Amino acid sequence: MTIEYEILGEPGRDNALLVTIDSGQSQHRLLFDCGEGCLSRVPVSQVQAVEAVFFSHFHIDHVAGFDTFLRMNWARPDTPVRVFGPPGAIKIVHHRLRGYTWNLVAGVPGQWIVTEVGAGRLRSSRFLTAEAFEVEHPFQESAAPGAVVYRGGCFVVRAHTLDHGTPCLAYTVREADRQNVDADALGALGLPPGPWLKAVKDEGVAADKSLGIAGKDYLVGDLRSRLLISSPGDSIAYVTDFFLATEIEAAQLVGFLSGCQTLVCENNYRDADADLARKNYHMTSSDVARLAARVGPERLVLFHVSDRYDVQAWREQLAEVRQRFDRAVFPQAWGIE
Ligand SMILES: [Zn+2]
Ligand SMILES: [Zn+2]
Repeated sequence: MTIEYEILGEPGRDNALLVTIDSGQSQHRLLFDCGEGCLSRVPVSQVQAVEAVFFSHFHIDHVAGFDTFLRMNWARPDTPVRVFGPPGAIKIVHHRLRGYTWNLVAGVPGQWIVTEVGAGRLRSSRFLTAEAFEVEHPFQESAAPGAVVYRGGCFVVRAHTLDHGTPCLAYTVREADRQNVDADALGALGLPPGPWLKAVKDEGVAADKSLGIAGKDYLVGDLRSRLLISSPGDSIAYVTDFFLATEIEAAQLVGFLSGCQTLVCENNYRDADADLARKNYHMTSSDVARLAARVGPERLVLFHVSDRYDVQAWREQLAEVRQRFDRAVFPQAWGIE
């Protein structure tokens, strides 16, 4: 299993994040925000394979590319298109779906499930292509234990609400823990390695199933507890458009991001523009660096930089962050170091 990611869009323009989780058997594609032009270089087949779009909030620089996504997915067969966002998401996405003339759609497949995330609860509505997206079908309302908003087979997505003058969602994607065979324990048991190890690692195999190995019978559950050691899978966080006004808010976000390997974080303002940053509910370079230093990811990827600066200023901005957190980079494709 691996998580790969790509920051979409240019520096100083709208950005988004495309995450691909490869389970070994299948690939899952998740899109975080959808600014203008962000999908222009993503192959159509990949856009059509995005199983869920996670909006942080609905400021236009995070949504202006949504029509491109809609155009490639309005009649998706088989699997529904999932969309997540803060409170208000259902109404806003409904408006966007209804913003076109949809005649001749009778019998056309396509189902969109939009979920609002707020106050530890999820509220979902469904819209059908064959109905020209006209009717909102309230679909589900539930708690979100552990802040989990979406589960794929081998990963979970969690959301945490931040303050951007409007609720703004930070997200994490975490793979399930990896189960590896402890070679020393295997040796101590005196069992020969073989295809039976696959059954021990496969969570789909019941713990009370019996396996015949080297002429003796063993319970899968027993073998699991004696042989398997677990380690965390890959993880990535997407955090944008926010301001931490209090230590309580900062500590809650640090807790939410804890253990994430890759932290993708906005850096809209340099330290010299701290007043503007505060007024517009954004972080400065030093704010972002201090946050990263507390979370301790393997890498901090800075994005959503402002077009009020030029390339030289972006370089200085990166240096500002690195003074406090040296594992900071811009997306490789930007070529700014
Ligand atoms: Zn915003
Ligand atoms: Zn923004």
